[in-house]
Amino acid sequence: MTKTALVTGITGQDGSYLAELLLTKGYRVVGVVRRSSTTPYERIAHLVDRVELVSADLLDQTSLTDVVQAAAPDEIYNLAAQSFVQTSWNQPVLTGEFTALGVTRMLEALRKAAPKARFYQASSSEQFGKVVETPQRESTPFYPRSPYGVAKVYGHWITVNYRESFGLYAASGILFNHESPRRGLEFVTRKISDAVARIKLGLQHELRLGNLDARRDWGFAGDYVDAMWRMLQQDEPDDYVIGTGETYSVREFCELAFGAVGLDYRNHVVQDEKFFRPAEVDLLVADPSKAREQLGWTPTVNFRQLVEMMVEADLARYRTAR
Ligand code: GDP
Repeated sequence: MTKTALVTGITGQDGSYLAELLLTKGYRVVGVVRRSSTTPYERIAHLVDRVELVSADLLDQTSLTDVVQAAAPDEIYNLAAQSFVQTSWNQPVLTGEFTALGVTRMLEALRKAAPKARFYQASSSEQFGKVVETPQRESTPFYPRSPYGVAKVYGHWITVNYRESFGLYAASGILFNHESPRRGLEFVTRKISDAVARIKLGLQHELRLGNLDARRDWGFAGDYVDAMWRMLQQDEPDDYVIGTGETYSVREFCELAFGAVGLDYRNHVVQDEKFFRPAEVDLLVADPSKAREQLGWTPTVNFRQLVEMMVEADLARYRTAR
């Protein structure tokens, strides 16, 4: 029988990769989009004929309950959020509404309209923030460092709480940073790959960045959506850390990205205080052994391949646009 998946955040990076994966597995995919005067569907332009788009908003309980009722999903993937850390200091209340309370609203919609559906919550390595231990695993205490991280901690715990309170099948994936050519341009990896392409083609000369010493565990988004799906195929719902187990600095990302096109980042990167954060997350690195052992999940793209993939994609995009 065809399974139905409901995906919030389908127009985002992860939503688009997840929709592709679910379609190849034969799912009926229903994507939740927010009404807007423009249609920002570029990431799913190649999929719009094959997915059903329905309108609802994480700020509006009625709309969520109605779309869950109408779609009758077997699986719900809650990927929608205000997902950019820097913005969460400028819009802390809105970030809490979407990224924290939005999860409760989705869980309430599921509880009322599809209590047998399996629920995936997009938790985040930003919950570890000022890390208490290294590497970070499922049992590592949270210490978020931004309104975004705080909101994600709430989303994580309300998912655990609804699982324990109501016996729902609710799982949460604590995903470390995951990137791709579809990453938003505001995130540091894509900001760098885009600038490298522009500098290589003579469209720009310098790149202004903030803290170059921050370290992240960066993986490929296409691998990470596969982990989400695997989590919902287990007999029992649980929480999993997903990452590569390797950590690199923003500076190392720059070195490789500029190096990929024969340039030296030191000739182009300028540090700008504007991009420093009020509180920083200095180091993240996952211990993904539980996911490896229980989900059979391992990443297929390493750091160097990820950097090169992103630079090549941005170069190709600017070349065809010329
Ligand atoms: P995050 O881990 O979700 O905050 O992902 P980002 O890609 O936004 O940031 C990753 C790290 O890169 C953070 O430690 C930032 O402080 C650092 N960083 C340094 N310069 C920049 C910049 O210009 N933009 C962004 N977004 N991050 C930067």
